[in-house]
Amino acid sequence: MGRDRRKLDDEAGRLAALRRTAILDTPPEAPFDRITALVCTVLGVPMAHVSLVDRDRVWLKSAVGLKIRGVPRDRSFCTLTIQTFEPMMIPDATQDARVRDLEAVTGEIGIRSYLGIPLESPDGYVLGSLCALDTRPRSFTEAEIATLKGFARLVMSELELRQIAHSDALTGAMTRRGWMEAAEREIAESRRDGMPAALLLMDIDHFKRINDTHGHASGDLVLREVAQTCFAELREADLLARIGGEEFAALLPLTDTEGALALAERLRAAISGRLLRVEGGMLHVTASFGVAGLTPGITGIEDWLSAADALLYRAKMDGRNLCRVA
Ligand code: GH3
Ligand code: MG
Ligand code: MG
Repeated sequence: MGRDRRKLDDEAGRLAALRRTAILDTPPEAPFDRITALVCTVLGVPMAHVSLVDRDRVWLKSAVGLKIRGVPRDRSFCTLTIQTFEPMMIPDATQDARVRDLEAVTGEIGIRSYLGIPLESPDGYVLGSLCALDTRPRSFTEAEIATLKGFARLVMSELELRQIAHSDALTGAMTRRGWMEAAEREIAESRRDGMPAALLLMDIDHFKRINDTHGHASGDLVLREVAQTCFAELREADLLARIGGEEFAALLPLTDTEGALALAERLRAAISGRLLRVEGGMLHVTASFGVAGLTPGITGIEDWLSAADALLYRAKMDGRNLCRVA
């Protein structure tokens, strides 16, 4: 399997992986709550939680014995846990310089001991942690650590199921709904941090003709191939969705319009440069692109999509197999 330690430092990729699960800010759900309840029973601790580490905050999907739903990222135990792939044990928080000044230790909650297992996604990012906490100092045995690791794998299975539910079955790209939510988040964060972001909208050219000539199954195959080409060209930090029948959108964080246009050109060339084998022959597929940066006038994702769509329309009018940017 071999873990890629570089992924521990790839924060943009990690955040995209977290967003693809579409878990943030969702209501409590029984499968996660059952796991945290079991952690308390089996390990004999009064508190347990499933935490997801967002850009600036630690958000709790499930918590037993804790009233809080989140803490600032720089004020949490979990921030330490996600820096490695290994379990983190703190037998006495008052004796540990990394955490002894945290509100969770000095304040009302009064955490004294902690065991956290990193929640590792299938693509190798640590998204958060499953934690057992106690108000008295204690250590955890090898067997207890192994038990919590097992529960952490269960948490990841649940997260993977969620991600599958929010993915387009044909292409594996995100669905429109999950992607729109992630995009709204990205708009807010890019604005706050004063960082650029770009939106790339892509529509396959004359796709109806492909269906009509080669059949719907061939059309599906083309959709899958085009999505694969996109996945190969995009970075880990980018979020790809199939937002309509033969229309894809890619959200590109930390990317200016120039960079986004260069990427669109690469994609355009990669798609049009391939011959696809379909029912009844070989097929040359092209796509048109609209690229819109996150300009100050854009009020939300609908607005941003409209801006990109107008440019996509221009690419179609200008003859297709083209990229257009504002
Ligand atoms: P243009 O170059 O102007 O985009 O032309 P187009 O033919 O690509 O556009 P149009 O919107 O006329 O046709 C899109 C077609 O995509 C119509 C619809 O039947 C087909 N389609 C939508 N979803 C799917 C799908 O999941 N699988 C397949 N095979 N076809 C689909
Ligand atoms: Mg089309
Ligand atoms: Mg279309």
